[in-house]
Amino acid sequence: MSADPAHSLSSQRLRGPRTSTVEVRRSARRRSTVSAYREGDRTVVLIPARMSATEEQRWVTVMLDKLAAQESRQMLGDDELAARAAQLSAQYLGGRAAPDIVRWVTNQNSRWGSCTPSEGSIRLSHRLQGMPEYVIDYVLLHELAHLLVPGHGPRFWKLLDSYPRTERARGYLEGVVAAGRLPHLPAARQE
Ligand SMILES: [Zn+2]
Repeated sequence: MSADPAHSLSSQRLRGPRTSTVEVRRSARRRSTVSAYREGDRTVVLIPARMSATEEQRWVTVMLDKLAAQESRQMLGDDELAARAAQLSAQYLGGRAAPDIVRWVTNQNSRWGSCTPSEGSIRLSHRLQGMPEYVIDYVLLHELAHLLVPGHGPRFWKLLDSYPRTERARGYLEGVVAAGRLPHLPAARQE
C-alpha cells in the first residue's frame, strides 16, 4: 500500500461517550508506531502510511480504548465527587441522603470510605482513585446509605439493593485487598 498524499488524511465519525470526531493521519515517516491524542473535541490518531484499512480500524479502536482508560484514571475533584453523590442519592436513595461535605482524603488507609452523620460528611480514600467508576460509585453510595442507617444490618443492605453492581464492586475491592497480600513476583514488577 503506497502513501498517496491526496489520501493521507481520512476521517471517520465515531459516537462514543465523548461523541468526538476521530481523525486518522497517515505519515510516510512513521514506520511502526501508532499514537493518539485529543485535540479539542476530536481525537487524532497517527499511523504509518503503509498501514492497511483493516489495521487502521483495529488501531483506532485500540487507541480510543487506551485514551479512555487514561482519562478514567484521572481523578475526580471534590466538586465532581459531591455532584456524583447527589446524583447517586437521587437515583438510588430517593434523594434522602444529602451530605454537606463529600471529599477525598489521603489519611484513610484501612477503610475505603467513612461517614460522619453528625456533621453530614463523607470521606473517600484516595486509594479508590483510578478504580472503575462503578466501584467508586458503590463506595459513595454505601457511605450515603450510612447517613440514613448506621451499621450493616438488613435495613442497610436493603438500601443498596437497587444498585445493580454492589456484588461486583465488593468483589473488586476484595480482590484488591487480596492482591495486596500476595508476594510480588519478580516478573510482575517488570514493565
Ligand atoms: Zn459500611
